[in-house]
Amino acid sequence: MKTLHIETPLIESIPLGKKVKGKVWLKLEALQPSGSFKLRGIGYACQTYLRRGAKKFVSSSGGNAGIAVAFAGRQLGLPVVVVVPESTTENAIEAIKQEHAEVIVRGGSWQEAHDYSLKLTDSECIHIHPFDDPLLWDGHATILDEVKKSGLSPDVVVLSVGGGGLMCGIIEGLCRNNMATVPVIAVETVGADSLATSLSAGQHLELDDITSLATSLGAKKVAKATYDWCYKHEVVSHVVSDMEAVNSCLEFCNDHRLLVEPACGATLSTLYNPIEFLMDKKNILVIVCGGSGVTIDKMNDWKIKMG
Ligand SMILES: *Cc1c(COP(=O)(O)O)cnc(C)c1O
Repeated sequence: MKTLHIETPLIESIPLGKKVKGKVWLKLEALQPSGSFKLRGIGYACQTYLRRGAKKFVSSSGGNAGIAVAFAGRQLGLPVVVVVPESTTENAIEAIKQEHAEVIVRGGSWQEAHDYSLKLTDSECIHIHPFDDPLLWDGHATILDEVKKSGLSPDVVVLSVGGGGLMCGIIEGLCRNNMATVPVIAVETVGADSLATSLSAGQHLELDDITSLATSLGAKKVAKATYDWCYKHEVVSHVVSDMEAVNSCLEFCNDHRLLVEPACGATLSTLYNPIEFLMDKKNILVIVCGGSGVTIDKMNDWKIKMG
């Protein structure tokens, strides 16, 4: 079966390599046709649900997950409805509509939009969760299949954590490619640090609020599977500020001419402001998760907002 995602380039970053002793490898998920890695898992899940008889897909994400579901639906010839809260930007709604999905604006918060989207769901109209579905993780795991095929054996993987679907997929990919002992750096921003907060409390907790501008990391509670992995696999939790994330996006844009969301800048910031754990690693694999919720104007606004 042909996948909906593409095989992305894996390139060495000379500028980032200068920050540490070893080599830094970028897996460029920003180049997926939907703008982020999400298409891997969501594309795989949608293809699987189609085989099981799905006639329509519903999403409640105004972000990269909604765009990926819309993209997958159009490719597979199935209608897609994306329910978003009133706070969703015109840009995001436009991106979803460009993929021919129907957008329903409902409720003041994501929770209200989500609750409404569940009412539309039945045995043929399938709800696609943005991060908490084993099918998604199977799809995200293909990142590591491609890394393995390239011949690279990373000593550590750096990635961002929102709800933790990417992290579940990457660890699954490490395990199925004989790399089960490779540690993962799980990066979040202050105000979207649901994993770090849970780990320091020793309980699977929910944040009261999301205050970070890295909205793609804004899951108040990570998937249970994400939390559980931290006790079965070497996961190093790391939290950076919004300012570090935004500055890293700007530096990355200068170094590699690619514009990514602060959600992705969070990961990059562990190299622009190198963390101790990475200093002596020979081969560092960085998941450049991407994101389409960014423009040059937005980037400038964030920069000004943070002084
Ligand atoms: C969704 C997303 C994340 C977080 O992924 P999770 O699977 O929710 O942890 C990070 N970066 C970008 C650009 C995303 O779209």
